[in-house]
Amino acid sequence: MKLFTAGPVACYPEVLEEMRHQMFSHRSEEYHRLHRDTVERLRWFLEIEDCRVFLFPSSSTGLMEASVRNCVERCMLCTVSGEFGERYAKVGEANGRKVVILQTEPGKPITPELLDEKLSKHPDVEAVTVTYCETSVGLLNPLPELAKVVKEHEKLLFVDAVSAMGGIEIHPDELGVDVCFAGSQKCLGLPPGLAIAVVSSKAMEKAELVKNKGWYFDFKRFERSQMKNETPTTPPIPLILALNRVLRMIEERGKREYFRFYSRRGKRIADGIRKLGLTLFTEEGYESPTIFCINAPPGISGIEIYERMRERGFELARGYGRLKEKTFRIGNMGYITLEDIDSMLESLGEVLGI
Ligand SMILES: *Cc1c(COP(=O)(O)O)cnc(C)c1O
Repeated sequence: MKLFTAGPVACYPEVLEEMRHQMFSHRSEEYHRLHRDTVERLRWFLEIEDCRVFLFPSSSTGLMEASVRNCVERCMLCTVSGEFGERYAKVGEANGRKVVILQTEPGKPITPELLDEKLSKHPDVEAVTVTYCETSVGLLNPLPELAKVVKEHEKLLFVDAVSAMGGIEIHPDELGVDVCFAGSQKCLGLPPGLAIAVVSSKAMEKAELVKNKGWYFDFKRFERSQMKNETPTTPPIPLILALNRVLRMIEERGKREYFRFYSRRGKRIADGIRKLGLTLFTEEGYESPTIFCINAPPGISGIEIYERMRERGFELARGYGRLKEKTFRIGNMGYITLEDIDSMLESLGEVLGI
């Protein structure tokens, strides 16, 4: 099966090879070296100067919870342009915080104007959440512009970069993001189970003040462990070995070239979709290059397309939640070759009778 999914995605062969490594203790010299080197490589990859980079033993959603528990005392604003933005709001509410919601219609971006207006009405908000790539609708929100508004209002900024980091260049430090996170199973092309968090000094200062942070996701505890090149609890060592391997691959290839290949793949998929006469669900100008949300043409549902593609050996992604029938998605994440894209598009044409 060739995977064009929204995570877990196909892993690089080198990654699968690396994960066969025998275990070692997470308190050993071997681990300390691996941890230090991986964090340093991530700092290089994300061009971090000031922020902390933590390795989290959880899926990405764990970082939604961690950002709320560490950095919000009472009230936060969640921007919602799809299902994952909505999840962030639910995480805030489940942790007893007051959540103000700024919602757009599915497929439409959060604009700086809307955000500015909402923040002006809610001065009690401490932090704003932004879903950079809203995977459910293939939408890329205008992060630099939104970050600027959040900074003008002097709020903390949390960015869900789960389906962006590793596929689109992102520099959280430069943008002034306070908590930015991603998971291993999306654009980085690793198996699921590890999250990466970039946490600013300002967020760490806030974590100092907030009470009842819990134990497992306490940023201060992560910072103390990091001094020893460790994590507070047992980390997923095979995934960290694999992440280290991917970062080495990117270095060997050159960061520029790596991202150029990613966007070349994205363009090839986008062009192919257009040539088949299909349209995207997402508002024009805000399409993500890592995941495409496509309107099912008349006479066939998104689910049928998904199932018929599976019969031909291609796993796409179904439409998300309420969009299951109306749309289907094609992911551009992880280990995908140009040849795979061409044969996937050819099969899609057959399925649609084009
Ligand atoms: C996949 C995804 C998540 C959820 O990630 P988990 O690793 O399953 O917790 C959150 N946000 C976005 C934008 C995603 O694409």
